[in-house]
This record gives sequence, structure tokens and C-alpha cells, in this order.
Amino acid sequence: TRCFSSAPATVPPSLDNYPDPTKLRNVAVIAHVDHGKTTLMDRLLRQCGADIPHERAMDSISLERERGITISSKVTSIPWNGNELNMVDTPGHADFGGEVERVVGMVEGAILVVDAGEGPLAQTKFVLAKALKYGLRPILLMNKVDRPAVSEERCDEVESLVFDLFANLGATEEQLDFPVLYASAKEGWASSSFTKSPPDNARNMSPLLDAIVNHVPPPTANTEAPFQMLVSMMERDFYLGRILTGRISSGVLRVGDKVHGIQHKDSGVEKVEEGKVTKLMKKKGTSMVLIDIAGAGDIISMTGLAKPSIGHTVANVEVMTALPIVELDPPTISMT
Ligand code: GDP
Repeated sequence: TRCFSSAPATVPPSLDNYPDPTKLRNVAVIAHVDHGKTTLMDRLLRQCGADIPHERAMDSISLERERGITISSKVTSIPWNGNELNMVDTPGHADFGGEVERVVGMVEGAILVVDAGEGPLAQTKFVLAKALKYGLRPILLMNKVDRPAVSEERCDEVESLVFDLFANLGATEEQLDFPVLYASAKEGWASSSFTKSPPDNARNMSPLLDAIVNHVPPPTANTEAPFQMLVSMMERDFYLGRILTGRISSGVLRVGDKVHGIQHKDSGVEKVEEGKVTKLMKKKGTSMVLIDIAGAGDIISMTGLAKPSIGHTVANVEVMTALPIVELDPPTISMT
């Protein structure tokens, strides 16, 4: 499957090139453990992954190839018909650290993966509650429909269980009007209508990628304003140091830019560290690639600052306003 419509060969790659925010889609993948999230992500990457490192070969290089290292990232970008879909993985196990909140706080859409045999379970409810609270309009992906026990009637049943779950969680009319897709992540296909086995030429994930483009709104993003990003994830790498990941809420960010990390402190804002951006990175398909510039709305990883952490804001040094941090539900929240 070819996932690109490549730019004409006559257009030279530009160092000032970042995705048009209207072409971006930021999507969380949420599910109960074992319902097929990993298999789904893997399929999407394998279908689209092969072309990716070459597409921007002039302005990005494979970090793994350059340094012989592998960086795990929960965010993977998939090109689709001129759009860039940033897919963000969420923990499938019980999450008490607020990671699900932080993920749903930085995306505009979600794919709710539900095992069509098992139906919605405890973690389905847990993650769905958070997605709805953040105003997302999830797409329901009924997975494992290849299984012998999964019939069209069973899918109808599960869909109405999921509908009730949405309703019980206080979903709005808009949220209740969720699209439903049927898939076998294991066999590598998705369909917008129920089938046990699509024709051979339809054995791909394009209906899901199309649904994301059509159903998930692009991020609201002002590339003209000064740069600001809320750090939503942090990793440490032996060679690269601290890798900060987040969605750029405004402005553009270039390698070499002077930025600072700031945080809310008492009634004001405190500077955590000032420094220069040494690397900008995105995971594209299966490789982590270096980029020179990124714009508002995009989810990226950066290095260069050693102190800022999750919940801190990285901003243009002129900006002394920290972004609102993600508010966690009280720890008493029920898992069932
Ligand atoms: P996760 O915990 O949500 O990431 O689930 P995994 O992707 O690890 O899948 C859990 C199990 O379900 C694995 O054994 C998968 O092979 C299996 N699985 C995932 N998707 C499908 C599917 O579409 N059909 C079938 N039959 N099995 C699947």
C-alpha cells in the first residue's frame, strides 16, 4: 500500500517547511489491555512505514541509522493523502500517573479500540471517560472481527454497550454520534461496514486513516505567535539526554532556537532553565527522524534542555506565560 501522494519532484525541499496545521491530525489510541492496540499500531506503521524515511530524505535523516540507537516514542506520525497523522499511544494497563490525561490533553481525536468479542471492559471505560472529558469525539474501532465468535449481531450488541457507556459518562450529542469501523488488526484491514473478510484488494487500513482525516478536527494553531509547548512526555536517552515531547501550541521551533523551560510557581511563573534546541525529532513510521523546524499544532520531540519535565512549558525566551497544566482527577476515581 502506498500511503503518500508525493510532492512534485520539481519542488525543492525547504528548510522552512513544516506541516500546514490544517493538514495535521493528532489522535490518541485508547483501549482496554489486549484489545489490539499494539497490533493495530504495528499494522499502520508497516503499511505506511516503508516510504517514510525517503520522503523527507533531504531535510531529515534517520537518527537510528546515524547513531545506531533506537528511541522509543509513543508518538508516531503517519502520512496519509497529504495529511500528517500523529498517532499517540496510551497505556493499556491501569494508569495512576495521569499519562492518559496528558495524552488526551494534547490531541483532538481518539480511536477507541474495542475487542468485538469481549466488548467494552474496565479500562475501556476509564480511558473513554478521560477522552470525553477533554472534549474528544472518539472513533469506535471494533477489532478482532475475524474471530469465529464475532457476528454482525455481536457487533451490534457491542456497539450499543459502547453507546450506553458514552451516555453514562455524560457524552454530548456530538460525541454520541461516533463513527464505527470494523477491523482485524491482526490481518491488517479495516472496513466502514461489517464484514468478516474484505475482498483482497481492500485488505488495508485506509478506511481508518480516511475516518481520522474526516472526523478529527485539525489542531487550532497560530504559527505567527511566539513559540510555546507544554511538555507532555519525557524520556532519557544515554546519548541525547533529556527528550521532551509535546504539542506545539503556538509559533514555530527551529534547531538552534533559544528557549526556556518555565513552570507555575505559587502565584507566578518560575524559570527552570534556558538553553538552545539541539535536536528536533519526530518518529515517522518506524524511524525516528531529525527535522529542522516544526510548527504549531504538531507533536514533536526536542533535546537541548536538561531540567524541564512533564507539566513544564518550553517557550520562546520572551514568553513568561506557562501553559495550563493538565488537571488530574482525584486519585479516588473508580476503575470499574
Ligand atoms: P494491546 O494490549 O491492546 O496492545 O493488544 P495486542 O495488540 O497486544 O493484542 C492482544 C492479543 O490479541 C494478541 O495475541 C494479538 O495477536 C491479538 N489480536 C490483536 N488484534 C487481533 C485481531 O484483529 N484479530 C485476532 N484474532 N486477534 C487479534
